[in-house]
Amino acid sequence: MDNNATTQPLPQVVGAMGVCLESGYANPSSVHHFGQRVRHEVEVAREKVATLIGARPRELVFTSGGTESINLALCGFLRARRSRVHRPMRVVTSMVEHSAVLKVCERLEKDGCEIVRIGVDADGLLDLAEFETALSEDTDLVSLMYANNETGVLFDMQRLAELCAERGVALHVDAVQAVAKVPIDVRTLPVTMLSLSAHKFHGPKGVGALFVRRRTPVEPLILGGGQERDMRGGTENVAGIVGLGVAAEEVGLHLSAGIETVRDLRDRLERGILERFPTARVNGGGATRIANTTNIGFDGLEAEAILILLSEAGICASAGSACSSGSLEPSHVLKAMNVDRRIAHGSIRFSLSRFNTDEEIDGVVRELPKLLGRLDAFNRERN
Ligand code: PLP
Repeated sequence: MDNNATTQPLPQVVGAMGVCLESGYANPSSVHHFGQRVRHEVEVAREKVATLIGARPRELVFTSGGTESINLALCGFLRARRSRVHRPMRVVTSMVEHSAVLKVCERLEKDGCEIVRIGVDADGLLDLAEFETALSEDTDLVSLMYANNETGVLFDMQRLAELCAERGVALHVDAVQAVAKVPIDVRTLPVTMLSLSAHKFHGPKGVGALFVRRRTPVEPLILGGGQERDMRGGTENVAGIVGLGVAAEEVGLHLSAGIETVRDLRDRLERGILERFPTARVNGGGATRIANTTNIGFDGLEAEAILILLSEAGICASAGSACSSGSLEPSHVLKAMNVDRRIAHGSIRFSLSRFNTDEEIDGVVRELPKLLGRLDAFNRERN
């Protein structure tokens, strides 16, 4: 139940990647027939990913995953713009972004860029008034996440993208947790760039893509042999790209059914837990969320201890984002939402996939009171 950290690759993905490694291993830049066959595989995958988000195949750059896509979007876009705009750059983002965006923004700030970080309300939704005020004429780029990896809260991206488009400000969307969980169509969603990552939707790790709308200048960050139409040097991760393509096709085919299945599971889990723990609270529960995620705070308990007990019982969940585990600080997302410290410290993220079952959900609902009862008794003894 930790599918926002990563997902199980689909059997079709594993199968296609195996075939590729065994018999499709030529270099796609080679002119011989073997290389050209593999080039074709890469381009078929590009079409499949394009279809999933309504893009043109030429608008996609394959990368090593969400983090690289985000780095390319922000740094590559600003680098290309710097040659035309002769003043310090200005980027507007939010306080609840994934660390990939947060860290890139910190670096940009050190390099002299102005970073404006917009807050969120108690449900994790972007402060629209603050956002509109921040969208000044000299804003060079906006970067916002579509779905929050910790709470699953969805920003109203259609509205936010339209606001940016009206003001003529470029928008990068970190859609890593949104792809395959909400329908995305860049023909009607006016974003400039959009990042995605295969391993979040049943593809392999270490491969993703950046959508760059036609005629958007972006400078490459990785220089080399001119691959990806000069946007990203280095021999392509062909098996990974093929796996990404198959995952995109598969999730696209079953998108609405897949979302409904997972929503039923999530609601069953949430209901079951809240019935047994009436003081527990769903962080972001008042907002529209992706269907697979619930982030539940247990008053006065320690998330790390809950996770260890869950893990011993065979249940994999997470506290906040995987990247911040090991730290006792409440997550920056829950802090930005002003969640009470006691609840924030005891907040657990369950993130489901279509591979979870009703039996598993019922197992968690059954086990949790026993585990938390043990923890409570231990805490009382210690005090
Ligand atoms: N953005 C969000 C919202 C994420 O959840 C993640 C991964 O957890 C990333 C970006 C980074 O993606 P990747 O693991 O492919 O580098």
